[in-house]
Amino acid sequence: MTSWAEGRREAALWRDYERSEAEQVSCPECEAPVGERCRNVHDGQPLGRLPAHWRRLKAAEVES
Ligand SMILES: [Zn+2]
Repeated sequence: MTSWAEGRREAALWRDYERSEAEQVSCPECEAPVGERCRNVHDGQPLGRLPAHWRRLKAAEVES
């Protein structure tokens, strides 16, 4: 595996970790309940770029 691919894999794993940690609490931003992914408050679509809203990450004490 190239170092580029390895870095991409690690980044994906880290995002999964952050999201799973964030989902231990409900989201103060979009009100997603525990275990459900954050959604964009404007269009209802799942967040694409972030694992969760940053306020939820804060609430779950996930540091990036
Ligand atoms: Zn949210």
